[in-house]
Amino acid sequence: MIRTRFAPSPTGYMHIGNLRTALYEYLIAKANNGKFILRIEDTDQERLVEGATDIIYKTLKMAGIQHDEGPDIGGEYGPYIQSQRKNDYLEYAKQLVEKGEAYYCFCDKDRLDSLKGDEGIAKYDRHCLSLSKEEIEQKLKDNVPFVIRQKIKEGKTTFIDEVYGEITVENEEMEDQILIKSDGLPTYNFANVIDDHLMDITHVVRGSEYLSSTPKYNLLYDAFGWDIPTYIHLPPVMKNQSEKLSKRNGDASFQDLIDKGYLPEAIVNYIVLLGWSPSDNQEIFTLDELIQKFDIKGLSKSPAIFDITKLTWVNSEYLKKMDFDAFFEMAEPILKECITKPYNIKKIAEYVKTRIGTINDIPSMVDFIEELPEYSTELYIHKKNKVDESICLDILQKSIPVFENLENWDNESIYNAIVSFANEIGMKNAAVLWPIRTALSGKPTSPCGASEMGELFGKDETLTRLKKGIEKLS
Ligand code: GLU
Repeated sequence: MIRTRFAPSPTGYMHIGNLRTALYEYLIAKANNGKFILRIEDTDQERLVEGATDIIYKTLKMAGIQHDEGPDIGGEYGPYIQSQRKNDYLEYAKQLVEKGEAYYCFCDKDRLDSLKGDEGIAKYDRHCLSLSKEEIEQKLKDNVPFVIRQKIKEGKTTFIDEVYGEITVENEEMEDQILIKSDGLPTYNFANVIDDHLMDITHVVRGSEYLSSTPKYNLLYDAFGWDIPTYIHLPPVMKNQSEKLSKRNGDASFQDLIDKGYLPEAIVNYIVLLGWSPSDNQEIFTLDELIQKFDIKGLSKSPAIFDITKLTWVNSEYLKKMDFDAFFEMAEPILKECITKPYNIKKIAEYVKTRIGTINDIPSMVDFIEELPEYSTELYIHKKNKVDESICLDILQKSIPVFENLENWDNESIYNAIVSFANEIGMKNAAVLWPIRTALSGKPTSPCGASEMGELFGKDETLTRLKKGIEKLS
């Protein structure tokens, strides 16, 4: 059975690249009737951030990327927490010591510092590898602080990555890395191997920054005699050609995007495309469709550039498709904040639904409704409709009696009245609708047409705005 895991370190926010990793792991598992596991890698106590695990947990829940097992936390599966599995790791490290694949190291900080070269980097010189059994036992008895290091054997290590292909590393380039730290906790490098094995993980998906450590992990798997998982390393998500998307340059986390009004489903849909292409050109997918279509063959090793414009487009497609009641539930409080006059808020929601990128676009789109904004008469000039300020003035003046005499004040009646008025004065509908729309909105664009606005505002406000237009143009 295919088993994947998302193994984030709790650093306090969910980077888009991490969420993409989680999504791919989830899809690989689900596409193969497998299981997806969430494991919080918190053994680096110095990097721990309060509340970070909660953020990861909630983000995945919101994104619909649900894990399939874990400790019971009140009726649902919680994540596995690495620090709570502390004892296992030491036992495994001791097994490696027994096998001659790892060794105790008692070197203190001063000694290690003295090994550092000009660049401040030290490759451990294997000083403790030559300690005798008796010396080791004595130091352990004396409670001398120790770490356990992996003994990297000679030769070279080769493995296949599903995205990057075959990779070979000379073992002498690798350091005898620490497996167990002096606080008794495993390093990430050790814990992830043990956990991946104990959790029967078959596919490891993670950032390409781990490619260079993977040979060390493989040596550990070999030392234990365990199966090596399938590796899928992913290129970074970039802000542009040269900079990675990072916390510093904004929009890097799931939460940033939620705050900007993007829908969780749209974010998930967009990020699946950051480094993966389907065999056809489909771009909008439900999670179920993705489970059907996702295939690791579509993954690319070139870094993906995060394109907020594309995300906005994906989001607008989701908004268009969204059930109206669900949309209204989100939009209503925003609309009510912008519009206090007794206009038909539901109708306005219908108009904006198909025209916004995110719900955060609503305020600027409806800002002309409560009060007519100040505007320049240049707005009346429209080359394609062949109208300028003086033609618009004429149209508006002549339209006043049409509206004053109109008995049924609804969209259709208003529209029909404008059309017959256009006929009467021998002008195209568009040319007549333009100045009316402009006078009613005071903006170059609006979420609905002239007659819809007329219906919304009612007769009095419509006439007031048209007269205001006449005044401005006179
Ligand atoms: N804890 C690592 C991280 O957050 C995970 C790497 C892995 O998936 O093995 O980057």
